[in-house]
Amino acid sequence: MGLLSLGTPLEFLESRDQNENVRQNGVEQLLYVFQAASKRDNDPLYWGDEIEYMMVDFDDNKQNAMLDVTHDEVLTTLNTDEYALCAAHNVHFHPEYGRFMLEATPNVPFKGYPGEYIEFNMQQRRYVAGLAYDKLPKNGSERLELLTLAVFPRMGCTDSVNIPDVWKHKKNTASCSLFLPDEVINRHIRFPTLTKNIRTRRGEKVCIQVPMYKDRNTPEKDDTVRERDWFPREDKESKLASKPGFIYMDAMGFGMGCSCLQTTFQAPNLDKARILYDFFANFAPVTLALSAASPIFKGWLADQDVRWSVISDAVDDRTPQERSVQPLLPEYNKDGYGGIAPELYDKVQRIPKSRYSTVDLFLGGSKFFNRSYNDTEVPVNERVLNSLLENHIAPLDYDLAKHFAHLYIRDPLVIFQENIYQDNKTSTNHFENIQSTNWQTLRIKPPTQEAVPDNKDVPGWRVEFRPLEIQLTDFENAAYSIFTYLLAEYLLTFSEEVNPYMPMSQIWQNMETAHKRDALREEEFYWKDSFEADNGKTSELTINEIFHNKNNGIFAKFINPILCHKGFVHERWEELKESSEHLRLYYYLKLISNRASGKTPSIAKFLRDFVLDHKDYKQDSRVSKIINYDLLELCGRITRLDDSNGELTKLFGSEIATYLPRSKLKVKKN
Ligand code: ADP
Ligand code: MG
Ligand code: MG
Ligand code: MG
Ligand code: MG
Ligand code: MG
Repeated sequence: MGLLSLGTPLEFLESRDQNENVRQNGVEQLLYVFQAASKRDNDPLYWGDEIEYMMVDFDDNKQNAMLDVTHDEVLTTLNTDEYALCAAHNVHFHPEYGRFMLEATPNVPFKGYPGEYIEFNMQQRRYVAGLAYDKLPKNGSERLELLTLAVFPRMGCTDSVNIPDVWKHKKNTASCSLFLPDEVINRHIRFPTLTKNIRTRRGEKVCIQVPMYKDRNTPEKDDTVRERDWFPREDKESKLASKPGFIYMDAMGFGMGCSCLQTTFQAPNLDKARILYDFFANFAPVTLALSAASPIFKGWLADQDVRWSVISDAVDDRTPQERSVQPLLPEYNKDGYGGIAPELYDKVQRIPKSRYSTVDLFLGGSKFFNRSYNDTEVPVNERVLNSLLENHIAPLDYDLAKHFAHLYIRDPLVIFQENIYQDNKTSTNHFENIQSTNWQTLRIKPPTQEAVPDNKDVPGWRVEFRPLEIQLTDFENAAYSIFTYLLAEYLLTFSEEVNPYMPMSQIWQNMETAHKRDALREEEFYWKDSFEADNGKTSELTINEIFHNKNNGIFAKFINPILCHKGFVHERWEELKESSEHLRLYYYLKLISNRASGKTPSIAKFLRDFVLDHKDYKQDSRVSKIINYDLLELCGRITRLDDSNGELTKLFGSEIATYLPRSKLKVKKN
């Protein structure tokens, strides 16, 4: 996300009159982008990652670990007083949904294969953030740490933020959550407005249900759901919405407060960006399972290993009508139309998925593509489809037009008063309003109207890979990022030779499979029998098979060939172990391989096992304060590659755990 514009955000019921205006002008802006940039070519493979951090406050006296929501000015400092320090270390900090969150990227993107520099850069981000954090005024009792946790285990439980008596004001008007105080939300007005507008449009609080891990003493229901009388409608919803066997959550922050690892790649031109997007579609579900790091939500062990569905539900602004369900409280949400303007009731469409969800459509444009691969129910905005296909600016082909026409079934979520009127030849503000609130496993990022073929000072066509869960260490995050880089480089090098297509419906099913507990070891995913043949035939394979099969496995089919092409090895990635120049890449790939084969655990399994073995655990699926405290202490040790309790070895296996502490990268301190 770029810099946040200041201004006056409109509440949904005020701004909805502008929805069509935003869509119409957004489409025109997109067409001017295509007019300027569709012929752009030969852009280099610039790329970069995004890492999201949580600021955690350890109270050693009370043995409690909390989200730190009191030092968010660190982000301002990092973009003002400490800006030069950031630039000198090639790091850049961005706002995120949570007041306790920071996002960081390289300041200047990488060009091609960065080697271990990427991990070094990630270390610089922690180092620089730590310096800025240390300079802030403190009350003296806190001990603060920056952790890369996919989900904060006790988010929404008592004493899980570091403000004493956080509920005493009885005001929680953005989310109306029973559990999560609005103090977790970024102070910038965009974020509480987003929270509120999603709720208003939906006509109900958001509703997140995660299967609860079933142990001997696990209660039938999430017994933290209770009555309250602050908000007449919202406070009645929770009991109706929560179901036996599920953890119930009711606020945007439970999802957008999770941390992801994302990578963005520039393609040489638009056609290659489309092919890269289609190629990555297969990888999103399997790498989600491979990166699983979310076994606990709201103080309960989950029977699920990943965060994805939680974010999906947390920003689901669809009305009951659009979801084809009955409203929870018909007296407040008549006929389930939510916040839709009455004059539009007869235009309401059924919408099968949340605006945060897996990709819907292959973009096509490659010789291997045919439309039968796009075999799922994907509603489109017909008016937008027609204007993208037929216009005087830059008509799009059907498959690309359909992709954007699908994004445009959504309403804008936040409109700023000051931004209503834009020059469509120079602004992409309205386009980005819709684009940036369609959160899918992949995103094609168009450039701006400035990106004419000769203007190489501005970015070109990019594809973002978004499914990955953040990992605890810079080592792992570098490994997963580089892995996605190698896939991208493979595809961009050999795009003429690889047919990536399989039915989209199977990719959707893979995404569901990826959520199951231990999917990494226990489940089977659809995977192509061959990436050469001119068909989309698949079989169901385990993740181990998907990575290690001789003919259609990821290492044999994609990783080894690109490493050979780069001259790093003669045949197989394992040769890197003998390399002096690329030794660390061996360990990055070893981590991926070990996790795929089940030799070493995912973070999700590692954290779940820690809870199950904890002396305070009562076989009731509850993660108490003390378990949470010990667990986050453990996460801190892992982050620092401290193997004094043998935990690093347990997580990574002895080969990696022996290598890592001995070969720490040196952080540049200037
Ligand atoms: P968003 O939040 O919209 O995904 P960010 O700015 O947070 O965007 O992250 C974008 C990522 O893309 C960063 O890692 C950045 O280094 C990288 N990046 C920047 N410019 C380019 C480019 N021209 N091509 C590819 N990646 C780029
Ligand atoms: Mg970002
Ligand atoms: Mg982010
Ligand atoms: Mg985000
Ligand atoms: Mg991103
Ligand atoms: Mg099988």
